[in-house]
Amino acid sequence: MSHYLRIYPDPVLRKKAANIDDFSENLTVLVSDMRRILAEVGGVGLAAPQIGVSKRVILVRMNPMGRVEDEDVRVFINPEIMDATGSRIGEEGCLSIPDVLGEVERSAQVKIRAKDLLGKHLDFTAQDLVSVIFQHEIDHLDGILFTDRMSAAKKITISSQLKQLKKKYQKDRKS
Ligand SMILES: [Zn+2]
Repeated sequence: MSHYLRIYPDPVLRKKAANIDDFSENLTVLVSDMRRILAEVGGVGLAAPQIGVSKRVILVRMNPMGRVEDEDVRVFINPEIMDATGSRIGEEGCLSIPDVLGEVERSAQVKIRAKDLLGKHLDFTAQDLVSVIFQHEIDHLDGILFTDRMSAAKKITISSQLKQLKKKYQKDRKS
């Protein structure tokens, strides 16, 4: 089955994704599909559930304000937040929730533990926008969407947009 970008309220977006245990498992196809789709839509990050695969794999653009270059997009397997400090409020959007934007409070700095494609251990600190991308993408692995983290008042303002997306999803499934 070919992978494509899943749009809210696709149920795969609400599933808790599974750890990758076996690095001999063929991750290459999954990651290259993720890279292709991220490049097509021009986002700053992508989680495997967003293309219908409930596994703990994310892509993050490490220099999100810079020019889009393939080598800037890095893959992280089984990423975890080991520590989070500070706070930062910024506007977020999500490729899986088109046209919806809203302010979300996040940690300003997160310590990340993950593995690379070869299973090599990685430990590092992410700051500012990159830190937000990690938090947003790791949330996807737990079935959490950025809209869940908006204030109650803001949630009301986007509720009709979410309702429209639900309607469209139902209609597309029938056709
Ligand atoms: Zn997202």
